[in-house]
Parts: sequence; C-alpha cells; structure tokens
Amino acid sequence: GCDVGRVAEALRAGAATVAEHKAELIDLDRAIGDADHGENLDRGFAAIVSTLDSGVPETPGAVLKIAATTLISKVGGAAGPLYGTAFLRAATKLGDVSELDGAAIATGLRAALEGVVTRGKAEVGDATMVDALSPAVEAAERAQADGGDSAAVLSAAADAAKEGADSTVPLVARKGRASYLGERSVGHADPGATSTALLLRALAEVAR
Ligand code: ADP
Ligand code: MG
Ligand code: MG
Repeated sequence: GCDVGRVAEALRAGAATVAEHKAELIDLDRAIGDADHGENLDRGFAAIVSTLDSGVPETPGAVLKIAATTLISKVGGAAGPLYGTAFLRAATKLGDVSELDGAAIATGLRAALEGVVTRGKAEVGDATMVDALSPAVEAAERAQADGGDSAAVLSAAADAAKEGADSTVPLVARKGRASYLGERSVGHADPGATSTALLLRALAEVAR
C-alpha cells in the first residue's frame, strides 16, 4: 500500500515528469490549442512541490487535497480546474484512510474521473483527458478485482491511459479549445490525455 509519504513522493514524481515533458506538452497544445498546457501544469505541480516542502500533512487524502487546491488556485485554463477537481474528488472519497491499497486507488481514480466528467461534460471519444482517464479507471478496477495491489492497479491504469491518449490522435476534438479546429484537430494527440498518461506512469513507478 501507499502511505502518506509515498503519496507525497508520487506527487513529486508527477511534478518531475511534467517538468521533463513540459516542451512536449507545449508542442502538443501548440498544434491544436494555445501552447500553454506544459507551462500550466508545470507551474501547478511546482507549486504543489513547494507546498509539500514546507510540510507534509498526515493522510494521503490531505496530500491530494493540497494538490487539488493548488491546481485550482494556481493553474488557469481548462486543465487546472479539471485536474484540481480530479484530485479534490479523490481526496474527498478517500477521507482520512492512512494507507492506499489497490482498492483505495481504484476507488480514488473512479472518483477523480467522475469529477472531471461532472465538471467538463466530456465523453470518451471527445479527445480530452477523459479518453486517458476513463480506460485507466476501468483497467484499475479490473486489476483490483484480480487481486492486484496498489502497484499493480496503478501500473494497469498507466498502461491503459497511455493507450487511451494514443487513441485521441485520429479523433475530432469535441471539447475545449481544440474543438474550435473541428476536423483540423485530427492527427494530433490531445495534450491533456497525454499529461494524464504521463502522470499516471509517474505515480505507478513510485508505487512499484
Ligand atoms: P486551455 O485549453 O484552457 O489552454 P490547457 O491547455 O491547460 O487549457 O488544457 C487543455 C486540455 O484540457 C485538453 O487537451 C483536454 O485534455 C482538456 N480539456 C479541455 N476541455 C475539457 C473538457 N470539457 N473535459 C475534459 N477535458 C478537457
Ligand atoms: Mg492550452
Ligand atoms: Mg490556455
């Protein structure tokens, strides 16, 4: 399972991944948006890290809540509030549990997806982060039902998210800025789906 220290470490790993892939996320968003997705997420995750540097709270849920409030307050645009809502719903669902096992992670991911969908109203196939997160949740739930631990559940989620992000390439974007391009959005991976896959991979590697 993942205790509070591991969850904080996972967010730091997420921040490192976002920093490492910042230029790539900017390029993806330049093709079908306004070229700020990498910058937006990097600013948000750097702020999460600096908050954690000044002290880690007592529970995984409280750490996720810091991530949520930081992303909501520091990151504009579509993705900040959407990711913020995802972390907030997961935090709320997990409550004050002290250790995240496979079941808790699957439950938290499901809550995160529900938050994103409630807020953004995107469905699978609209070429958004939902195209990565939704299959990730399903894969996480399957892995958990098969008896997977936190590492196995996150690893299954990360694999499915990567496939889901790749699946956005041939799609017409139907939500967010990319939807303004209509058919011209075809042929590009969605930036938010790509960052979702990168973040889940980073979390999975810390849980391993
Ligand atoms: P902005 O588009 O405001 O510049 P970002 O570039 O940071 O914000 O994020 C863009 C990403 O947000 C998209 O690639 C997509 O994955 C996601 N997104 C946009 N609108 C929605 C929505 N309604 N539902 C889910 N995800 C969305
Ligand atoms: Mg953008
Ligand atoms: Mg923007």
